[in-house]
Amino acid sequence: MSGTVTEVDIVIVGCGAAGIATSIFAAQRRPGKSIMLLDGAEKIGAKILMSGGGRCNVANRNASASDYHGGSSIFIRHVLQAFPVDKTIRFFRDAGADLHEESDGKLFPATNQSRTVLNALVRRMNDIGIRLCPRHRVVEVIRKGGGFQIKTSAGIIAAPRIVLATGGMSYPQTGSDGSGYRIARSLGHGLIPPVPALVPLVLEGTRHRQLAGISQEIVLTLKRDGRGAAQFRGPMLWTHFGISGPAVLNMSGIWHRTKLGDSTARLQANFLPDDDFTSAELRLLNLASTHGRPSLQSVLSQFLPARVSRVLLQQMELDGQGCTSHLSRADRRRLLHSLLECELPVSGSRGYAEAEVTAGGVPLDEINPTTMESRICSGLHFAGEILDVDGRIGGFNFQWAWSSAWVAASAL
Ligand SMILES: Cc1cc2nc3c(=O)[nH]c(=O)nc-3n(C[C@H](O)[C@H](O)[C@H](O)COP(=O)(O)OP(=O)(O)OC[C@H]3O[C@@H](n4cnc5c(N)ncnc54)[C@H](O)[C@@H]3O)c2cc1C
Repeated sequence: MSGTVTEVDIVIVGCGAAGIATSIFAAQRRPGKSIMLLDGAEKIGAKILMSGGGRCNVANRNASASDYHGGSSIFIRHVLQAFPVDKTIRFFRDAGADLHEESDGKLFPATNQSRTVLNALVRRMNDIGIRLCPRHRVVEVIRKGGGFQIKTSAGIIAAPRIVLATGGMSYPQTGSDGSGYRIARSLGHGLIPPVPALVPLVLEGTRHRQLAGISQEIVLTLKRDGRGAAQFRGPMLWTHFGISGPAVLNMSGIWHRTKLGDSTARLQANFLPDDDFTSAELRLLNLASTHGRPSLQSVLSQFLPARVSRVLLQQMELDGQGCTSHLSRADRRRLLHSLLECELPVSGSRGYAEAEVTAGGVPLDEINPTTMESRICSGLHFAGEILDVDGRIGGFNFQWAWSSAWVAASAL
């Protein structure tokens, strides 16, 4: 490490979506300022490249504060309104990456390749002359002379303003290992305990292994003190270790957070999302009375995938070949309860190694929503996933990165 100190106007730590966007927006608004964008990794934009299965779900047409968890929804709404989705679309179009819309408002690059998104961002950075510094891992930030002294693995930098855009802890091999939280804490900030989110869940036992590869529409409910504390409807995918798919991923962060305070919280799946007990019972009785005296297995296969119904019947020790109309009232009710309130014995999750985002982070009440500046340490700003905001699946997390970057940059 050299003893000389490089001085610039603005240092941005983290070269993910939020850091890159902050650097571009800041340079466009303040052309005279010198900006350094630091990242510990050798190659930048790792998460952009791997996102959306290699297609990068850049944003969501319908993004609103209700699509996010974490701190104050008023704060989140304010930031989203400052840089809404139509500005994201225009920004990427101007940068040479047109977006197209798919189901549920999801926006992807027209090429369906995340590389297009990263290339567009890098081109923009090069055009406006941002000083990009990979292999600059920030190890310490201290206040000095009204500004900051930033110690990196490749030298010391001084700047009156710094933006922490270091992400969370998910996929730590990309460089987002939570060190930004430590830096924020050293500058006086608190931390909402981070937990993995948008992550597959692990089930106890082995029964689910027979179902690996099957996807079915369900309603997933988190039960706490006997009541539904959160609910998601959507596809659930059975895997060799447990469950995944949109409904499960969206629930996973809430499940982790709830478990921290209440070990008795549990998950239930409703395999008949459009039914309640009465309508499901009526359907079952109607099918049972149809011509040919259908077996329980064949009737259940009209409700849910055949393999799932077989495993369910085994578990309940009911004879699938038996005639449905011979089912006793007690067994019929038992069966309906397990279709509508199937207990999922979740033992944990696949952890940060497979979590798309981190829930928790720097508390929003310590940040000014019109500048993303710290209320605790002036000159320090935040953008992206480092904050206590996590979106559901569908492009919402990137939209948070772009919007929070815009607000942070407007105040630099
Ligand atoms: C597999 C996967 C798929 C995803 N798909 C989507 C999707 O399709 N749509 C969507 O909206 N979201 C998706 N996400 C979530 C989205 O990628 C993130 O929310 C978003 O990238 C966060 O951006 P960020 O800039 O805040 O943080 P990051 O992208 O995590 O960037 C942080 C950067 O900071 C650097 N850094 C950290 N600490 C230091 C330090 N001490 N010194 C220097 N540099 C440091 C890291 O190396 C990293 O480059 C996906 C995530 C994953 C993992």
